[in-house]
Amino acid sequence: MVVLYIQMALNKRVYLKSRPGANGSPSISNFSCEMCEYPVMENEESIIVKTLYLSVDPYMRCCMNSDSGVDYVKAWQLGSTIAGPGIGMVLESKSETLHKGDFVISSGLEWPWKLYAAVKNCEVEKIKSTQDNLPLFLSIFGISGITAALGVSLKGGVEASLKQLMVVSAAAGGCGSVAGQVAKVLGCSKVVGICGSEEKCMFLMDELHFDGAICYKTQNVDEELSRLCPEGVDLYFDNVGGTVSDLVISHMNHKSCIILCGQISKYNEDVPYPPPLSTETSKILRQREINRERFLVLNHKEKWKEALHFLQKEYNTGNIKSKETIAHGLENAGSAFVSMMNGCNIGKQLVKL
Ligand code: NAP
Repeated sequence: MVVLYIQMALNKRVYLKSRPGANGSPSISNFSCEMCEYPVMENEESIIVKTLYLSVDPYMRCCMNSDSGVDYVKAWQLGSTIAGPGIGMVLESKSETLHKGDFVISSGLEWPWKLYAAVKNCEVEKIKSTQDNLPLFLSIFGISGITAALGVSLKGGVEASLKQLMVVSAAAGGCGSVAGQVAKVLGCSKVVGICGSEEKCMFLMDELHFDGAICYKTQNVDEELSRLCPEGVDLYFDNVGGTVSDLVISHMNHKSCIILCGQISKYNEDVPYPPPLSTETSKILRQREINRERFLVLNHKEKWKEALHFLQKEYNTGNIKSKETIAHGLENAGSAFVSMMNGCNIGKQLVKL
């Protein structure tokens, strides 16, 4: 009995306490943290891990609704432990390939928000990394970096001889910051980022060497696009949708291309994905023959390894930088998610346990 109490006190989990409502903004009170039992190895296929880092991601907003509304993730059940991308260290294993002390990462979106957890050894992959570099595997070398790299390379049609200009929205975030840098490496002549603060604009210009940055909260986006992109926009890496995207699209050239990565400005609204466009924007797409195809990184798993090698090479040569905002403590994972949805992150928002 005493032993059980000590083991429960050692472990904690974060679960979904309430839903924000399909038309509501998520809040910290939607999440709760409680003590729970220390995991047991159920069979030969399970391993016990200690969680080291968690990633909080915009898709999780869909999981907070009673119906996720998208086919690639399920809604979270009330009371159930939240899961997403994560990294940890193996504590117990009977597997021949995973040993105590190994660092492992979730292969998908199934790492439980627990201090200690039993996971299936087929749902994790071993990573060769120092402790200090682990966050990179959930940022530039994780889903957001791979999304950026594959989005630009598979959908962008970048060719150096064409001297293309790319605009990125949510440009200082996990995907956006990498997408802009990838575009430059692949040959875009100019990259302009749109983001939500002056600090983020400075980060884009001073640290990532974007050619222009626009703060959509304090500047006139239409005027700034005219000033920074007089030649028109050839590629748009769209993370946000809504008004910002309508304005970018109004500056796009004939036969230009939108990489439809995400529409975060609409995630707190009960609309289908992708949300319907205004009549005016739809007309511009038709008249200018702008290509706008939905891009989902989970549909391109066969290309992940190649993208990872590219990102590692460019990161190691200093051509692409990575940035993370790191919150501390499992009990703060919910607030880290809410903070990211409110734009308080620069680079990828992670949680360190
Ligand atoms: P992130 O950009 O690091 O963080 C989200 C950012 O969105 C916030 O920092 C905020 O930055 C911005 N934002 C929030 N509300 C906004 C609003 N109403 N209008 C405009 N901007 C808003 O997140 P991420 O993980 O890299 O994801 C970025 C996008 O990529 C999301 O749309 C996500 O769904 C999508 N995504 C798609 C795939 C795929 O396979 N297609 C994979 C991963 C992610 P500001 O300060 O700039 O407002």
